Amino acid sequence: MRIDIVSLFPEFVAQCAAFGVVGRAVERGLLSVHGFNPRDYAEGNYRRVDDRPFGGGPGMVMLIDPLRASLRAAREAAPGPARVVYMSPQGAPLTQAKVRELAGRERLILLCGRYEGIDERLIRAEVDEEISIGDYVLSGGELAAAVIVDAVARLREGVLGDAESAVQDSFEDGLLDCPHYTRPVEHDLGTVPEVLMSGNHAEIAKWRRMQSLGRTWQRRPDLLDEAALSKADRKLLEA
Ligand code: SAM
Repeated sequence: MRIDIVSLFPEFVAQCAAFGVVGRAVERGLLSVHGFNPRDYAEGNYRRVDDRPFGGGPGMVMLIDPLRASLRAAREAAPGPARVVYMSPQGAPLTQAKVRELAGRERLILLCGRYEGIDERLIRAEVDEEISIGDYVLSGGELAAAVIVDAVARLREGVLGDAESAVQDSFEDGLLDCPHYTRPVEHDLGTVPEVLMSGNHAEIAKWRRMQSLGRTWQRRPDLLDEAALSKADRKLLEA
């Protein structure tokens, strides 16, 4: 998979993809992250990438032409269609389902704004979708793009040591994950639940499901409306 970052600070996103499982995926060629800086495509001595907003008001707006040229360069840098995603607080909230959908693509171009944002005409003409990573405002789209690179990369085949671990993560089946424990069994902070050491796989699976359901009910009851629950799950929740 190839992800192109159009940003005034593309190195930031590439650097975020240099650690842990994602870094190893890059090293192994499972994923590549490339930067395109609008400043490199801007004209004039000052290589200007922004200007004052029409109508007045504070802040600056990113110019159409350096962004359009960067996007064109990114599209032409590799074969195949690329989906252009603008990182924006006004976009659709990022979910695990969206991450999975993006991970199914071979090419993404992540467009990062700065200042007050990007000239609306560029967004309308060039962007396939807008994604937000939450209801708060960042100073630039790079952190949001880094979030997408990380979340998408770990779903690509071969990136995680055990593909099963992603399937069991929170949100994959609509619920939060169960709690996890490791050695030692006895610790002054507590004891590991006995069932996890019983070797009884059916009982362990049942315990984990109950924990997932209970946590989701306590912490994120909104998720239960959309989760695919069995009759047994519903019984547990009603109990
Ligand atoms: N004036 C814009 C607004 O209120 O919608 C905010 C602009 S923000 C200061 C600058 C850039 O940061 C945006 O163009 C966008 O790329 C990025 N950004 C800020 N918050 C974000 C969020 N929650 N999710 C994704 N990108 C975000």
